[in-house]
Amino acid sequence: MTIAIVTGAADGIGWATAQRFAAGGARVVLADLRGESARERAAELGAAHIGLACDVTSEASVISLVEQVLSQCGRIDVLVNNAGIGDQGGATVDQRLDAFDRVLGVHLRGTFLMSREVARVMLAQAPLEGPHGCRGAIVNIASIVASAGIPGRNAYGAAKAGIVGMTKAMAVEWGLAGVRVNAVAPGYVRTALVEKLQAEGLLNTDAIHARTPMGRMGAPAEIAEAIAFLASPQASYITGSVLQVDGGWIAHGGAIPSVPPVVAS
Ligand code: NDP
Repeated sequence: MTIAIVTGAADGIGWATAQRFAAGGARVVLADLRGESARERAAELGAAHIGLACDVTSEASVISLVEQVLSQCGRIDVLVNNAGIGDQGGATVDQRLDAFDRVLGVHLRGTFLMSREVARVMLAQAPLEGPHGCRGAIVNIASIVASAGIPGRNAYGAAKAGIVGMTKAMAVEWGLAGVRVNAVAPGYVRTALVEKLQAEGLLNTDAIHARTPMGRMGAPAEIAEAIAFLASPQASYITGSVLQVDGGWIAHGGAIPSVPPVVAS
């Protein structure tokens, strides 16, 4: 049975991903800052699944999480580095250093610490059975801001671009050893994180719909599908890739509004 760890699994994209892996037959470890919520979510999925408290920015917490998973599950096949927070927002000249460090800490330090500890396990375990069985798969969560800047979202852009860099560095380092590392880059997805940005006036839903070629935000389950694919044996020759799951956002280089939209007849 596939053992999959999902960080930030109590809510949003992480929760949808945990549900997707469980539906696909995996045993899921839901790790979140809020341990109680993680345990409740795990219980919702069924008795086989595990909810654990973990702060991905803390080395001790990450090491303890990986030790607990190993002692309860014996191996780790999939890691999804999903835990994340939004930006402080506002003009860069007004941004605070502690908030900047916090955003980079959760995204970059968190992805690094989790990947390092889990890769130590993956690199030491036997490959999965099958013609191209790998030792493990890591999926990181980037964003459209890794490719295109959004005013006022300075630290978040730096963090997500850093995650893309880290994804490629780890992929080429561990490719020969059979650990694949990829990233999904979502566009706007309707989750608590996005609702908070909206409430703070940092996000205009109508403008986002107009700017997105598919005319809408994504659903957490649509991001989870892409994550599950990159973690699966169907992606056995894919490593170091960044899969845009953004309704066409990054492909769009035209003016807004552009030519009249093409609608189905
Ligand atoms: P949510 O806020 O809905 O969920 C994120 C989860 O991560 C929360 O449960 C949160 O806990 C947890 N978390 C935060 N910090 C830590 C930490 N230090 N250690 C462990 N868990 C932590 O976010 P989304 O589902 O929207 O986002 C998930 C990922 O997707 C993030 O990496 C985000 O940057 C990325 N993303 C999201 C997009 C979107 O439009 N929603 C677009 C592109 C990328 P708590 O609630 O207690 O803070």
